Amino acid sequence: MHKKLFIPGPVDVRPEILEAMATPMMGHRTKEATALQKGISEKLQKLFFTESHILLSTSSGTGLMEGSLRSLTAKRAVVFSVGAFGNRWFQLAQSNNVPADHVEAEWGDPTFPEMVDKYLSTGNYDVFTITHNETSTGVMNPVEAIAEVRRKYPDVLWLMDAVSSMGGAKIEVDKLGVDVCITSTQKSLGLPPGLAVCSVTDRALEHGKQVKYRGSYLDLLELYKYVEKKPFQYPSTPSLSHMFALDKQLDYILNVEGLENRFARHAEMAEITRAWADEHFKVFSKKGYESMTLTTIANTKNISVGNLNKKLGELGYQISNGYGDLKEKTFRIAHMADRKVDELKELLAILDKIIPEML
Ligand SMILES: *Cc1c(COP(=O)(O)O)cnc(C)c1O
Repeated sequence: MHKKLFIPGPVDVRPEILEAMATPMMGHRTKEATALQKGISEKLQKLFFTESHILLSTSSGTGLMEGSLRSLTAKRAVVFSVGAFGNRWFQLAQSNNVPADHVEAEWGDPTFPEMVDKYLSTGNYDVFTITHNETSTGVMNPVEAIAEVRRKYPDVLWLMDAVSSMGGAKIEVDKLGVDVCITSTQKSLGLPPGLAVCSVTDRALEHGKQVKYRGSYLDLLELYKYVEKKPFQYPSTPSLSHMFALDKQLDYILNVEGLENRFARHAEMAEITRAWADEHFKVFSKKGYESMTLTTIANTKNISVGNLNKKLGELGYQISNGYGDLKEKTFRIAHMADRKVDELKELLAILDKIIPEML
């Protein structure tokens, strides 16, 4: 039986998008492939609120995190982490021999702009990373305030993980001044997993020229070279199936639902979930910094989250246990991509029924 997914990726995919994944193949060096890729880039620029280049990578989002950090850090990176996915940046730096420092917040807290100011003011860094939406703790970082202090350090490149929020929350990449903004298909965009997307500024690509060993498959400069020289093609065979589906989903997001409606729907679902969580448990993330696309809930009643999910599964629903060290201490309800407000209410009503039976 298919379970209705309230997990932070992979998300449920609308039937017409699953059908688009089954579009018959074409050559990836054809004019048609170029047109498809060019169209996708233009639509993604609207979603990202950017005029920068768009690059697609046939990998999951982690691929572009690794690729951007490795191919753009010439001196030293500072990783601002607020949870498990923030820590992933640091692990990627270490395993690629990229010099980096790790600044980890208390879990549940955001990256405060003062921290960014303090570290960037040392002049030690040419790159910093921010997690827009930390999927473990359910924290959404105050990126406008971070952008404000960052204006003092315009030469430091800003890499941002927006894997679980792009498509669900408004992220104005150019206004913020983000140099590389990364997302994956299987979260708020509402597609199957397997493709990653980023925006990249000219100055970031220029800066990367100083890096001697940028790797190859995930080197942003190499990806861009192909996009530029052979318009909108890629060095190796990309996942065309994802591209057919992404093109269709972007038309839906931009022209059928509309960006503002989509953001408003996510905000409404987040509000409903938080209110429910505070009534029965407690929202884990610090007030004022809660995510729009998922809610992490402190398990204040000490229920077995594993059992809860088993019971939900029998009824055709799935939520997420806490991530890593937060397993059983928290649980997570994702409200992202094309999930509807009524479907969320349906889940919460079921939780209201089964949780009292578990106490
Ligand atoms: C899911 C997730 C990732 C990892 O993305 P993949 O596409 O699985 O590689 C990274 N960061 C955040 C915030 C995520 O939610």
